[in-house]
Amino acid sequence: MTVYQGSCHCGRVAYEVEGQLDGAMACNCSICQRKGSLLWFVPRGNLRLLTDEGNASTYEFNKHAIHHRFCAVCGIHPYAEGSDPKGNAMAAVNVRCLEGGRAGLDPGDPLQRARRLTHKDAGRGADRRPTL
Ligand SMILES: [Zn+2]
Repeated sequence: MTVYQGSCHCGRVAYEVEGQLDGAMACNCSICQRKGSLLWFVPRGNLRLLTDEGNASTYEFNKHAIHHRFCAVCGIHPYAEGSDPKGNAMAAVNVRCLEGGRAGLDPGDPLQRARRLTHKDAGRGADRRPTL
């Protein structure tokens, strides 16, 4: 098991998450599509908030089944809470909010793959994906 550190941009919402990051989902729901989140699902107990829970605001829509937690100061959505089909409490960690320098990341790690391209590369033509 590896412990990853994650946070919003300004640090008011920070957490540790324990598990093996072996995949992440580019969710195509109406909110994740807009946010560009890459989600990693873990049991809620594997996510430990390091900051006051009240620092994370909650956004809900549709059936209000998922609590999208975000920082009202910097606007970043570092995680969400909900439950799986069996009713177990789950967390959806936005792997884009995890720190990449942590030991234990392997070359197949989706976080490392996602970090290979940064906005600094865009001007050098490394990122040839179309921009919308
Ligand atoms: Zn913040």
